[in-house]
Amino acid sequence: MSRVKKWEKFFQSPIKFGGWIYSIYLFVICYMAVIFHDHYTQRSHHQLEQQVAQYQSRMSEQLQRFAHLLYSIEAYLRATPEITPEQFYHLAQSQLAGLELELSLESYAIIERDQVAQLEQQYRELGFFDFTVHLPNTQSIRYLTMVKTAPVSEFGHLLGSAVAISDALSERLKNSELQAVNWPMSDRWSVVIEQFHSASIAKALGIGFELQHLLEGLFSQVYQDNGHQVRVLSGDKLLFTSDWQSHHQLSDKQPGIIENMDFFGHQIEIHLYTQEQLEPSFFNNYSLIIAMVVLIAAALGLMVLFQVRYLSRQHQTVNMLVEERTASLAQANDQLKHASDKRLSALQQQIVAERKYKSLFVNSSEGLFVLDKHGVLVDANPAFKALLIGQASPFNGLKLSDLMLDSDFAATWRKMVSRFEQHEELEWLAGSNHSSGVWLRQTGSWICHSHDTIYEGRVTDITQIKLFNEQLKYKAQHDSLTDLLNRQTFLQLVETCRTRNSGQFILLYIDLDRFKLINDTLGHLAGDKLLVEFATRMRELVGSYADIARLGGDEFAILLDANALQAPLELLLEDILVAVREPFSYQGSKHSVSGSVGVRRFTAPCHNYEAEKLLHDADVAMYEAKKRGKNDFHIFTSAIADEAARRLLIERELQTLNMDTELSLRFQPIYCQLGKSIIGFEALLRWHSPKLGIVSPAEFIPIAEECAQIVKLGHWVFWRAMQCVQRFPNKRIFMSVNVSPLQLQHKGFMTWLLQQFKQTGLDPTQFKIELTESAMMAQENSLVAPLQKLHDVGFGIYIDDFGTGYSSLSRLNVLPVDGLKIDRAFVNGIENVGNPRQLIEAICAIANSFNLTVTAEGIEQPAQLSVLSSLYCQQMQGYLMSKPLLEEEALHLLYLDQGRKITEFAS
Ligand code: C2E
Ligand code: MG
Ligand code: MG
Repeated sequence: MSRVKKWEKFFQSPIKFGGWIYSIYLFVICYMAVIFHDHYTQRSHHQLEQQVAQYQSRMSEQLQRFAHLLYSIEAYLRATPEITPEQFYHLAQSQLAGLELELSLESYAIIERDQVAQLEQQYRELGFFDFTVHLPNTQSIRYLTMVKTAPVSEFGHLLGSAVAISDALSERLKNSELQAVNWPMSDRWSVVIEQFHSASIAKALGIGFELQHLLEGLFSQVYQDNGHQVRVLSGDKLLFTSDWQSHHQLSDKQPGIIENMDFFGHQIEIHLYTQEQLEPSFFNNYSLIIAMVVLIAAALGLMVLFQVRYLSRQHQTVNMLVEERTASLAQANDQLKHASDKRLSALQQQIVAERKYKSLFVNSSEGLFVLDKHGVLVDANPAFKALLIGQASPFNGLKLSDLMLDSDFAATWRKMVSRFEQHEELEWLAGSNHSSGVWLRQTGSWICHSHDTIYEGRVTDITQIKLFNEQLKYKAQHDSLTDLLNRQTFLQLVETCRTRNSGQFILLYIDLDRFKLINDTLGHLAGDKLLVEFATRMRELVGSYADIARLGGDEFAILLDANALQAPLELLLEDILVAVREPFSYQGSKHSVSGSVGVRRFTAPCHNYEAEKLLHDADVAMYEAKKRGKNDFHIFTSAIADEAARRLLIERELQTLNMDTELSLRFQPIYCQLGKSIIGFEALLRWHSPKLGIVSPAEFIPIAEECAQIVKLGHWVFWRAMQCVQRFPNKRIFMSVNVSPLQLQHKGFMTWLLQQFKQTGLDPTQFKIELTESAMMAQENSLVAPLQKLHDVGFGIYIDDFGTGYSSLSRLNVLPVDGLKIDRAFVNGIENVGNPRQLIEAICAIANSFNLTVTAEGIEQPAQLSVLSSLYCQQMQGYLMSKPLLEEEALHLLYLDQGRKITEFAS
């Protein structure tokens, strides 16, 4: 802390500061007390000195008079040395009479002890018969003895009294100095002067007096005058005391002042006692008074200090209170100011808001209105009037409910008015003389004033929005192309029917067969036209009593209430199939498709199946109809459901298939025309699923195609077949590999395949690719290019299962095909004369005309072989010759067939 701050703090602390001030104050008081005390002491001492000096001078004056008197008498007597006693007496009478003090004129002889007798003799001779000298017992050389005295009446008996005189005294007498002599055993004193003498005995003259009387005369009034007491002492001897009654016990007291005085050769002391000493009291004791004053002043100072401290504390407290109060007042002031500012700004805002409100009210494009508590219009802005009642029309007690077209809503509104019920957004259809059919959205609230209740509302014309929303809703629920219900809405309908309490319903799932072909060949516009045409036909057929939906693509669904059916369901289904088949015109030419219909019946309430499941069942049934040749309907049964479930299971298993452990290849030998020697093999895929067991390729291949697993499997099959071919004894033996059209369409397949051949060094001419007729014809356009490429590389291209599909014979010339494989179904029964044989013969003739190699599959009977051997059929395959074999078996058989040694095969 800096020194300045320290001092500031010190001065601000009244306790510390007051302590200091008080100490200084005490010091000053004490100092002044000391000064006063000194002053009074000195003054009283001075007064005493003056007083005693006065007494002294008074006494000196008296003594001086004695001296003068004595000198003058002595001078007189010196002139008349011989004086008679009577003269002496007269002299005394004349000189001493009239004095207030009783004096006697005395004559002395200064003798030595041996002159006593002489002197007695002398004075007895002069007539003093009893004159006797009384020497004192003290040893001295000289004695002063009284020889004359006048008047003698009182003091005559002192004649002859002697007093020893010291050498010093006799010396002073000789020097004509006055000398006081105290007569022994009495208070009597004489002032003596030596007298000129001629005789042998020296003489002296003196004035005798009672010293006490003298002192009484001088000091008796002292006490009365000043309250002083005086004592006069000569050595230890008390000569006089003004306290004659020993009232004050002066001997025990210390005199106020002692003044020494020469009493004609004797030292006497004048002791002066002041009244303060004699009667000490508070009022005459200055020290005490000063001490008291100091004490009182100190006490007063202390009181003042305490008072100051108290006041200071009070001051501090008051200050603090004042500060607090000031702060709180300032705060309150601020708050008040803030509140007032707020109020002011609120007021300003209110004014602005009111202005705005008014402006808004008038200029608002929305209809603003005010109703009274009965719902009667009391005010409305121009927009409201323009919208509903016309600008000029007065309200005339018009109620808002009068404008509502929907009477139910109007009733609800009246109820709300009667209860002053607050509400959310309301939407209602308004109509009046001025306008009609306006959809309004109303918001507003009841406002309770102290005296009244009103309703402030706002209406917006939402007619356009309503229309738009309705359109949106319609669009959201309908298919944009056909204007039929969409899948979502249809499912909701099914769901509603399903959850009903009762009812029989029929769900139809319709898929257009070969629609993709139309789309691909004629283009999407044609496809769209076909779909719209189909929708129209369905609407005409069942639209009055059923819900029709387009589920997507070429899939449609119909929901029927079974009770609404006029005729048996089968007839309706036939009608639908007929309607689908009916040709439609596009760009001047007629085209036709067929349809496959799946039927799912259900009874409400149908708790077990949800709408989606029911639709799926109908789809499964439709799939079954498709499987069974299309252009047909199929009613859903649990058996189809099981089949569909199995399909799903297979699909799942295929997804997680481990190809190396679960897949294997069988190789079925293909023989020459006579069925004698092996010319090749067909690689046939086998799947042993750990969960499903052995699954036929006829079952899982189509599923693998659908779930896009076929490419993966196809790679594996080719890879394994190539491994096997590498073990063939010569390059003339070929390997037929079944290929799905999806593989060929896959981007990477061709590259991969060619890469494999490059790596293994195998010759593509050793391989033949088998594509089923149906697959080839269905996807012909997209297959031409890859098939051509394969063909160019050297692969042989064969149409598998020929006769089961719908090959356009004219197309055979266009496609890069090397041969046909006649399906087993055609081979079966050819041993007998009849239709099958004629069919085979026809196929062989066609193949011949197109110069295609023919392979007959499924030869089980020797008769079949012999028939086929006689026809244009170069390659034979069937259980008659060999079933599909394991690789080792197949190679073993091949080596045997080739006439090779088995050891060669083994190596
Ligand atoms: P596919 O290509 O027509 O094959 C001939 C089918 O007929 C084979 O059935 C074969 O075992 C059977 N077969 C041959 N000779 C006779 C006979 O004398 N009597 C009877 N009853 N059957 C005979 P598999 O192996 O069950 O194959 C069925 C179909 O699965 C094949 O028909 C082929 O279309 C397809 N497939 C087989 N393996 C593959 C493959 O690796 N890839 C593709 N894409 N399809 C394959
Ligand atoms: Mg085949
Ligand atoms: Mg076949």
